[in-house]
This record gives sequence, C-alpha cells and structure tokens, in this order.
Amino acid sequence: MTREKSRPPRETGEERLTGEDLLIARIAEKFGHGHPGLIKGIGDDTSVTAQTPGTVLLATTDTLVESTHFTLDTTTPAQLGAKALGVSISDIAAMGGRPTFFLISLVLPKTLDTGFVEELYAGLSATALVFGATMAGGNMSAGKDLTVTVTLLGEAKPEKVVYRSGAEEGQGLYVTGTPGDSALGLRILSETKKGGTGESRLKEFKQAVKRHLTPTPRLEAGTRLAERGIAASMIDVSDGIVLDARRLAKESGVGIDIEISLLPLSPEIKRYMETGGSGKEAGLLMALAGGEDYELLFSADLKDETLIEKISEKLKLGITKIGSVTSKNSGVRVIGADGVEMALERGGYEHF
Ligand SMILES: [Mg+2]
Repeated sequence: MTREKSRPPRETGEERLTGEDLLIARIAEKFGHGHPGLIKGIGDDTSVTAQTPGTVLLATTDTLVESTHFTLDTTTPAQLGAKALGVSISDIAAMGGRPTFFLISLVLPKTLDTGFVEELYAGLSATALVFGATMAGGNMSAGKDLTVTVTLLGEAKPEKVVYRSGAEEGQGLYVTGTPGDSALGLRILSETKKGGTGESRLKEFKQAVKRHLTPTPRLEAGTRLAERGIAASMIDVSDGIVLDARRLAKESGVGIDIEISLLPLSPEIKRYMETGGSGKEAGLLMALAGGEDYELLFSADLKDETLIEKISEKLKLGITKIGSVTSKNSGVRVIGADGVEMALERGGYEHF
C-alpha cells in the first residue's frame, strides 16, 4: 500500500484531471454543442469549425474587468455572462454579420466557487442560444480580479459587410432604440448601492437598469440593414452617440450633425428629466454621451426611409433619424432645439 501511495502520477488517466479540467468538462457537457459547423469544441488543443462557403470571418474580443466594468454588488453571475457575450454580439451586428462561435477566458479569484462559474455560463449560454452563437472553447485561470474575456467569431457575405467608412454627405443618421438608458440604469444602480435611494427607484427605472445590466444586442436590425444594403456605414454605440458618431465621421471622412430635438428618449429617461434640478441636463447628456447603450448608429440614403420604417415596425424596435451626414469641414456638431450648435464638454454641454 505504501508503494501505491508513493507511485508517481500516471501520465494519462482520470486522476490527472485538475479541477479546471473537470469544470470545463462539465460545462462542455452542458453547453458545448448544437452547431453543425462545430467539428470539435472543448476537449482538444483547439476548436475546429467549418466556415460557411462564400462568407468572410468576423472576429471581435472584449474584456470585462471587475471594478472597472462591473461590480458583483449589482450584477449577478448570470447577468455578467449574458453581458460579456452580448457586447460582442453587438459588434458583429454593427458589421451586418451573424455570430457563429465564441471562446471564453476567465480569470477567477480564489474566493469564487464553481457554482459562480456555472451560473455565469448559464447566463452566457442563454444569450448564446437566443442569438445563435455556440461555445467552441474556454480557458480558466486563478487571479486577483474577476475578468471575463469573450472572443466571438461571426460571418457575413463579403459584399454585405457594413464598415464605418461608408457614410456620404447628404445621408441621414439613424439610431435604434432609446440611447441613454444604460447610463441612467448605471446611475440608479450606483445611487442604490450607496444607500442614497431605495429599492423603489430600482423599480421606477426598471427598464433602464435592465438595459445596463443585460443590454440586448440589435442583431436582427443590423443584419437586415446590411443584407438589404440600407446601412451605408454603421457602428454600435458603446461610448455614447457623439463619440461614436465622431468615429463614423473620421473613418468616412465626413461631418455629422446630431439634432437634440430628434433624439428618441425612453419614458424613463423623460421621467428622470422631469424630476427637476439638474435632471434635464443630466438626462440629455446620458442620451448624447452615456456609454454602453449597444444600440446601432448608422447612415443611410434618405430614399431608404420607408424601408427603415418597415424594419422598425417588423422588429418592434424604434429606428429614428437623429441627424445628417455633412461635409468634412463641418465636423461633428450637436445642434440644440433652437438650431444653435452646442459644445459637449466632459462634464456637461453648453452653447457656444
Ligand atoms: Mg463596436
């Protein structure tokens, strides 16, 4: 028996599996299946996937770090998993593609248990199922800060890919949904966390909080706008309409006018703006410069307005014209309700 105990570990076999391997195996059993193009998922050195003939490969990666991008005080592991994948799906949507496979890398503090990881994967898996993405691999390692990195692959017909560089003077500028909600949700969550407001505020601004914790990528809108050749240029709004419009303008070599009076505001952000004090200004700023909306911002020829309306109706998703593409010399301008250009500063906005 003592000989048995001192025996060196075998080179192969079940007992050499680490806790990580076992967890990955369990996850693979639950989630690692379901796509005809997945030739080999978890369980080998790399995944092996088939590319649909006639498509190009789209690839994007995003990292969420605890304290920088989220806090476990307000986010559940399932919501974190859903968001980690959702933000990457939003990028694929902005190119006009469809997601296929994803890889996930986790850095886990020792304080978290396997239950946490399984719940995170459950959230991820639910989102994956809705948007047609399949897990093809993963990696875990121990570390100080909880970090979730998703690498998502997608595909599109090469001639249908929508770049940021396609905007042309004279086109309209459009946005899906109601920007600013995520920033409002974040504000409500952080106020609640500090104990400044009660649970009732979370209920009152329920949709905004939801938009922040689990944003819905506008995949169907993105692919329809792309496949029908409607969107000339497109970007997903991760850092606020103004900043992302600047990115479109820069890549396209154009200017952009955004009109405040045209901004689609959700009932919740309107209510927030009616609370008095600096609420009105703060609400507008959220809509213009709040981050993490994951709506789509795109330019299109004005003649396609009816087609855009049809997509909007079909998807029951607002798509609103909020401005226009101008010449490069004009730059990106925010035009107030009075027709006067406004300067958007870091802490607020003001008239020139
Ligand atoms: Mg993006």
